Amino acid sequence: MKTWTVVGYSFDADIYCDGVCIIRALGEIGPVVYERAKLITDVTMRFKGAATVEEALKVIAERRGIDPDNERSYDSGDFPKVIFADEEFPDYCPRCALCRGVLDGFDPEDYGDASGSDE
Ligand SMILES: [Zn+2]
Repeated sequence: MKTWTVVGYSFDADIYCDGVCIIRALGEIGPVVYERAKLITDVTMRFKGAATVEEALKVIAERRGIDPDNERSYDSGDFPKVIFADEEFPDYCPRCALCRGVLDGFDPEDYGDASGSDE
């Protein structure tokens, strides 16, 4: 996996996967939409036809007056910051706070976490 691949987001002291969870965490979609959002487009179409979560986040950032290309200009408590594939998590296996999915490229077994990735 390329190191600049975005595998998730950190927001408000939690970690989220690169799926629709981060949009939900931002309060941009309600639980019903979130539950039925099997395809990313179901959600992102709401944001100027954005095709990906990243694009949808850019639209949301714009609305909130945040410059997503300059992460130093805002706090991760206000808007998500990206987690790249080469980010290190020495103490725990990074899982999404909403769906509990393990971020791409991380293996729970490396952390002695026998519960697997389906929880
Ligand atoms: Zn998730």
